[in-house]
Amino acid sequence: MKAMVLKEFCEIEIEGEPQRRADLPLKKNALEMAEIPDPEPAEREILVQVSTCGVCHTELDEIEGRLIPPRFPLVLGHEVVGKVAALGPKASKFALGDRVGIAWIFSSCGQCDFCRQGNENLCDDFQATGLDADGGYAQYTVVSEDFAYPIPESFSDAEAAPLLCAGVIGYRALRLSAIKEGGTLGLYGFGASAHIAIQVAKHWGCKVFVFTRKGQKDHQDLAKSLGADWVGATGDTPPEKLDSAIDFTPVGEPVKEALRVLKKGGRVAINAIRKIEPLPPLEYAEYVWHEKELKSVANVARRDAVEFLPLAAEIGIKPEVREFHLEDANDALRLLKQGRMQGAGVLRIFD
Ligand SMILES: [Zn+2]
Ligand SMILES: [Zn+2]
Repeated sequence: MKAMVLKEFCEIEIEGEPQRRADLPLKKNALEMAEIPDPEPAEREILVQVSTCGVCHTELDEIEGRLIPPRFPLVLGHEVVGKVAALGPKASKFALGDRVGIAWIFSSCGQCDFCRQGNENLCDDFQATGLDADGGYAQYTVVSEDFAYPIPESFSDAEAAPLLCAGVIGYRALRLSAIKEGGTLGLYGFGASAHIAIQVAKHWGCKVFVFTRKGQKDHQDLAKSLGADWVGATGDTPPEKLDSAIDFTPVGEPVKEALRVLKKGGRVAINAIRKIEPLPPLEYAEYVWHEKELKSVANVARRDAVEFLPLAAEIGIKPEVREFHLEDANDALRLLKQGRMQGAGVLRIFD
């Protein structure tokens, strides 16, 4: 089969920008088109003929060595939509031709306390799609039938792809923020996940206040068009205190700011794999006292995908997508790195 593979870490070259990592080769095209053997489904696995695969910031982290895969060459991609093309021995959940999605969570041990409680994302043996196992930048991929999800009919293959990452993670962040129907929610940062999370929160009858960087008018306008009840910049004081807040940013200040404008007993969820700076010091009386809670959100569990996909269909969430051919994956990755991707980038593999 054809696949776009990563053979070594490199820095993605952006025209007119200086090299930042002297230790890595600079490449315009980080991924190479290769002919590799078709994967074969093992016991209780399914072979998926990939139709579309979303392009995510996580791929940039993998290419540039901020996330370390166990081996090269590697097929990236963890927002995979396709059709079941073969069943491994004892696989019985899906039929040939069924449309399924695969998300970041590829597998977990299934035995530990976390797995048994449905928090497989916290399992010590958590394996990620397109990192620990080959992903969707290819014509075919395999996955355990327990980690594939039916895709509601109302979504096209391209629309479904970003829902499997930004959408599912935004949904987990909402759950972990403990926001209740009709509550008051603050969103700090308004990227791919937040713009889906706001639609769910509005569906739940929440009042939503959106905080962006100062002067980020395009994000503020998008937030308003999606139903934000108020928009402002991080540091602004919203019209009401918040029951819950979600911080989607890579910086420290929004955490402190969200705690400042939180109600007593409220919770701030941080949806970030890492912060590029330390969290600011938190003066206890102002930011923490009165049972305020802080919780991080790590990856996703199966439950998030199982619950979110039908909910997204019910609400009528339609992500804005921009399609690329598989062989043009490098163009999509460069646009993403430059911050110039309009909508969610999606690779088209099979029609
Ligand atoms: Zn992703
Ligand atoms: Zn486990």
